[in-house]
Amino acid sequence: MLHDVVVVGAGPVGSTLALALAAGGVDVTVLDGRAAGEAGRSDRSLALSLGARLILERIGVWNLLSVAPQGLTPIVRIDISQAGGFGQMVLAAEEHGIPALGYVVSYRALQAALDAALLREGVSVQHGVEVAAVRGTSAHAVVELKEGAAPVEAPIVAPISARLAAVADGTGETIASIARRRLDYGQVALVAKVWPSTPHRGLAFERFTSHGPVALLPDQDRYGLVWTATPDRARELLALDESAFLAGLARHFGTRAGTFTRVADRRMFPLVLEFAAEPARARCVALGNAAQTLHPVAGQGFNVGLRDAWELAHVVLDSPRDEIGAPAMLRRYSRSRRADRVSGIAFTHALVRLFGSDLPFVRWPRGLALTLLDAVPPAKRAFTHAMLFGVR
Ligand SMILES: Cc1cc2nc3c(=O)[nH]c(=O)nc-3n(C[C@H](O)[C@H](O)[C@H](O)COP(=O)(O)OP(=O)(O)OC[C@H]3O[C@@H](n4cnc5c(N)ncnc54)[C@H](O)[C@@H]3O)c2cc1C
Repeated sequence: MLHDVVVVGAGPVGSTLALALAAGGVDVTVLDGRAAGEAGRSDRSLALSLGARLILERIGVWNLLSVAPQGLTPIVRIDISQAGGFGQMVLAAEEHGIPALGYVVSYRALQAALDAALLREGVSVQHGVEVAAVRGTSAHAVVELKEGAAPVEAPIVAPISARLAAVADGTGETIASIARRRLDYGQVALVAKVWPSTPHRGLAFERFTSHGPVALLPDQDRYGLVWTATPDRARELLALDESAFLAGLARHFGTRAGTFTRVADRRMFPLVLEFAAEPARARCVALGNAAQTLHPVAGQGFNVGLRDAWELAHVVLDSPRDEIGAPAMLRRYSRSRRADRVSGIAFTHALVRLFGSDLPFVRWPRGLALTLLDAVPPAKRAFTHAMLFGVR
């Protein structure tokens, strides 16, 4: 049987694509190695842009999230500053006449809402099915499963063929034909939940320090912390008891967010930039983290991935059935995503390089850049727009 589209990975990006395609009447089937009801990744606080909200509204997931117990926390202000230097910028929702600059949601809550929407819409999702490799020929894409991948109680006929394979496996590992470039930042992100002594009132922080950026995202009654550090320093921080960790955070971050009373769920992730220069080839498209894995400094990764999914769904829905996965369709998709992907990658990388450096001759222009961005309304508007919707 030849499907229109097979989606590899029912994470947030693959699920969004599948929902958008199914709503347009496309024959789509989704495969994921995780068991039904589990999340493919450890939990983390994700900052969703306003553009992400619009997409999630259109696929009927926003409503589910707004009533979920661990639902959405609005970000009403973002305070951007650097430690040990002048310069500060504050982005405020009211300056733009909008209720929130973005929203924070836990990865698990988002995944649960997407799973519920897939079930409600009757989209074919095969859980517990590990994909080994995705290949493309001129006629169709072929998805091969790992030995014994399908559960005994729900065997599936493999390999699976489709006009188009959309790979959203989070790493791009299943698709060897789409080459990825890799840059290791030599740093890790230590993530944790931290509780402030006073309510956060929707205020998020991005603070650039000599050891790299630190972000605090308001998430329910606490903050989601992303602390960039060397692997050795992060291991030390993970080993500290609660009060020593909180004292270390207070020293490192300063007092802008007040004091912290509790920490939980400390973990670390390696920080790399990986991206496919060309995300579509021979009946296959890589999207989401499979197409670009970004440093979490600006909270852009998932937002860019969501726009990949939305745009791909549109290009597929605008194509006659026979053209799905054809070279002209793939070229249209790649072209339509180029500017947003390149700027998401460049913007995040530049922030890491410019704001992660402690050289005095960088600190001064960096302070000036923050001050100017804050003081010059058109520049600030353009910056805010890029943060909220991406670059078009
Ligand atoms: C510390 C940290 C903080 C972050 N904060 C933010 C933020 O604030 N805002 C933001 O926009 N982004 C953020 N990100 C990035 C965000 O987490 C990712 O962009 C997002 O999870 C990517 O979604 P995805 O669906 O592409 O991949 P994933 O979330 O990795 O999902 C991949 C899915 O594919 C499945 N899968 C994998 N391999 C196979 C296989 N072989 N066979 C079958 N199924 C498979 C997995 O089970 C999983 O369900 C952050 C990342 C980190 C590390």
